[in-house]
Amino acid sequence: MEDYYDLIIIGAGITGSALAYVASRYSGMKNILIIEKYDKVAPLNSDSTNNSQTLHFGDIETNYALPEAKHTKAAAERVLNYAKMLPDAKASEIISPVQKMVLGVGEEENERLEKIYSKDMRELFPGLKKIGASELGKIEPNTIKGRAKGETVSALLSDKGYIVNFGLLARSFYENAANAGVKSIFNCPCIDVKPIEDGHEVITKQGSFKARFVIFASGTYSLFFAKKLGYDKNLSILSVGGGFYIAPRVLNGKVYRVQAGGIPFAAIHGDPDITNPGITRFGPTVSFPVALEVRKSGTTLDYLKTFDFDIPTIQSLFNIVSNKDIRSIMRKNAIYPLSFIGKSLFVKNEVSKIVPSLTADKIHFDKNVGGIRPQIIDEDKRFLSMGASKIRGNNIMFNITPSPGATSSLQSAMDDIVYICTLMDIKLDEDKMEKELGKFDYEHLKEKINGHKQI
Ligand SMILES: Cc1cc2nc3c(=O)[nH]c(=O)nc-3n(C[C@H](O)[C@H](O)[C@H](O)COP(=O)(O)OP(=O)(O)OC[C@H]3O[C@@H](n4cnc5c(N)ncnc54)[C@H](O)[C@@H]3O)c2cc1C
Repeated sequence: MEDYYDLIIIGAGITGSALAYVASRYSGMKNILIIEKYDKVAPLNSDSTNNSQTLHFGDIETNYALPEAKHTKAAAERVLNYAKMLPDAKASEIISPVQKMVLGVGEEENERLEKIYSKDMRELFPGLKKIGASELGKIEPNTIKGRAKGETVSALLSDKGYIVNFGLLARSFYENAANAGVKSIFNCPCIDVKPIEDGHEVITKQGSFKARFVIFASGTYSLFFAKKLGYDKNLSILSVGGGFYIAPRVLNGKVYRVQAGGIPFAAIHGDPDITNPGITRFGPTVSFPVALEVRKSGTTLDYLKTFDFDIPTIQSLFNIVSNKDIRSIMRKNAIYPLSFIGKSLFVKNEVSKIVPSLTADKIHFDKNVGGIRPQIIDEDKRFLSMGASKIRGNNIMFNITPSPGATSSLQSAMDDIVYICTLMDIKLDEDKMEKELGKFDYEHLKEKINGHKQI
């Protein structure tokens, strides 16, 4: 092992692996090290069983405003561009086209879909199509079978449906990075990080490592370490757990639901599973574990350390629980994981809107799958913020990655590598990166970075 690295990445989920790949392929960095707490790549939220496996484009996410939709589309296209460079057999294991739609049930939701299907949206997504009950009956028959007479349904059908095994995608990034010389250590929790004269020292259970630049791609743990170093007191995170009910295969593709605007977590949807073609998964449910990792109660104390427990935090939490849409989600979801009554209510409130004929005896809650979305609380705005966040410090950065963080992994890696290379005067093959992963607004980002440099 080297004792001084150009870059250390903490976390081998999809964010860290994508960054290692991009850094090793396009930048002049020579020594890069990944440090991972567990024994493999993507053990937590990036594992395929723990997320919804959707490549988000922003076309059927009814809680996104147009700028978010544009940004998400660009990020998703980078993943498709990466997959095109893989051998066909490998690419088809990782990503596969699938029918995808957002379903509106009842007058109010249908009106919302009508509004969302605006001229701007149609320009951004020319392949997005509005369909009614008769076409639904042909392409997704179980959304119509057994539905009450007179209940209006319509959908926006996307031509950009893809299901992704994000765990395998992370593994593919990692393998390419390792082949290009990136080193890694597994079973190696980082316990502390300290600034030193030219960079940082990362202290782990397997010793200390120094680097000119350190990136925390540690999912729910990124903010924990940022706070340890005194960065960004104005953010906290709300751990939003997401679990899944499993049913026999009742849908041909992904069926999302219309959801409240301004709220960052998705309404319950039905999805195929890329690792098991015989099932449909319904989720994610919403829970609020006092922990940074699901099924790991030992992470509770660390979660509490990500809160400042000052007036802005308390006001933010108050505003969150006072929001009527969030309160309704909280109330319903508190019951859903319970074995008998929870299951019946889940079917009545959620599943029956998507597949009216599916009964409770056909589904079960899988306690062993699901993850945590580190939803960012912006204490300046005193509310939840919609997307991911990057905290940029002195030769150090922290990536906080709620959904759709897996879709955005290459976008995030490109942003980070341009940032690091600009800041540290390291060579970056921008042309190759843009040719392979798609167009990139370098100048805009560099302007921001130069602004940051002067701070
Ligand atoms: C229920 C659910 C559904 C979702 N659905 C989708 C979806 O359909 N599409 C989509 O794009 N996104 C989705 N997401 C979001 C997506 O899964 C995450 O944004 C993404 O996986 C985050 O990747 P990451 O690498 O940043 O974090 P993680 O996958 O959590 O990886 C962080 C890594 O850091 C390591 N680490 C943490 N602390 C330390 C430490 N101290 N030392 C060393 N290593 C450390 C961890 O072990 C882990 O390997 C969903 C998430 C959930 C929970």
